[in-house]
Amino acid sequence: PEYEYTVKTSHSKAWIEQAKQVMPGGVTANIKHFAPYPLVMKKGKGAFITDVDDRQYVDYLLAYGALMLGHGHPEMKQAIDELLADAGTFLFGAPHPLEVTFGQEIQRLYPSIERLRYTNSGTEATLLAVRLAKAYTNKTRLAKFEGHYHGGYNDVLYSVNPPLSEAGPADVPCAVQESMGIQEKEREAPLILPFNNLAACERLLREHQASLAAVIIEPLQGGFIPATPGFITGLRNITKKLGILLIFDEVKTGFRITLGGAEEWYQVKPDLTTLGKVIGGGFPFGITGGRKEIMELTSPAAGADLFEQSGSRFSRAKDVVFHSGTYNGHPLILAAGLKTIEVLQREIDSVFAVTDTLKQELEALFKRKGVPMKAVGTGSIFNVVLTEHDILNYRDLQASDLAIRKMIDLLLLNEGIYTKPLNRYSLSTAHTEREVERTIAAYDRVLSRLVGG
Ligand code: PMP
Repeated sequence: PEYEYTVKTSHSKAWIEQAKQVMPGGVTANIKHFAPYPLVMKKGKGAFITDVDDRQYVDYLLAYGALMLGHGHPEMKQAIDELLADAGTFLFGAPHPLEVTFGQEIQRLYPSIERLRYTNSGTEATLLAVRLAKAYTNKTRLAKFEGHYHGGYNDVLYSVNPPLSEAGPADVPCAVQESMGIQEKEREAPLILPFNNLAACERLLREHQASLAAVIIEPLQGGFIPATPGFITGLRNITKKLGILLIFDEVKTGFRITLGGAEEWYQVKPDLTTLGKVIGGGFPFGITGGRKEIMELTSPAAGADLFEQSGSRFSRAKDVVFHSGTYNGHPLILAAGLKTIEVLQREIDSVFAVTDTLKQELEALFKRKGVPMKAVGTGSIFNVVLTEHDILNYRDLQASDLAIRKMIDLLLLNEGIYTKPLNRYSLSTAHTEREVERTIAAYDRVLSRLVGG
């Protein structure tokens, strides 16, 4: 498969060789890299993208899930054009009416979000949530789950993809650094929790209650492995009882598993929520939101107000939780986000229906071929997991057949079906039964090559 890949994608190969002279590894985000080299893309339309060798792919990566209206949605283009024509500029750096209009939509869809702030990425959104939690609780340590990703800064760069040889026992996982350059001696590594194991979590949280400001969680790990309903309600109850804040990181799940995200799906209210990806319509964007009394710590007036209420602890401007950014609440991005919500309200059910069809047909095909596989996920995201077993957490996923999955993914690239190897599948309003048929036919050819039949 690798030879075939290099023959079909020689222009990408040449670009990546040149790119290595510009950017380390030839990429500007490590996640863009895969072996033998990533494809370089130049065009997108609807459900399709085209690479620099002029090969067309059905796109299931969709910019890591961000493009839920597909590529270049005409209504989105129009919304951006109209705002540009109206405003006459790209950016003000001053408040703009859309910050309110958009925020009211978020408050309506996510009732736990009483107040919010806009950021420029999911990373910035979780960073602010964690800072708020530490300030509000006056505690210093974070708890996160093994296998969960929350962005690229020191607090959360632990145990995202740890080698199992270093990860410790399943019910007391170790904190494994994901990056060099995190000066562990100067700071506390987060407490690592096992996903979907309520008894172990309760034990660990009780043990570390005194230092824990918050638990941050992807309610569906990687956007596709659901917390069991008992686990998520149990976690909500324990954290509340122990005075630890619960942060739902809905950067992947927001708008994708249902418009109102995991909060709506589970009917569980976190203290803080982070959103990103889909809601930026393909532009850099994030949201941190949650309970009023926590979020108000970012208010420029908070120092003064809280001083009156509580005496000496909040006495100076620096007692406000710092949050700023040149591009926060970019009006063009808010216009794109508003249009995204409008189109999804109309069309989200059909995205779910097409996704269900694809999952069912894939499972039926794998069954016919005699290859154990589960399409794990809900709403508009799922992943193809080569296993016979239930998938409840990171370690279950590691125990599935990742090597064969990688090979299938490379063969699928040769067949014009795009996702980054091992990545989950995301669908958009542009994906229809036609793309499902094309995908199933490609999978059929690939599996026939691997197992015959
Ligand atoms: N949290 C989650 C759950 C994510 O999936 C991501 C991005 N994959 C982030 C945070 C970080 O978002 P960004 O890449 O926009 O910084």
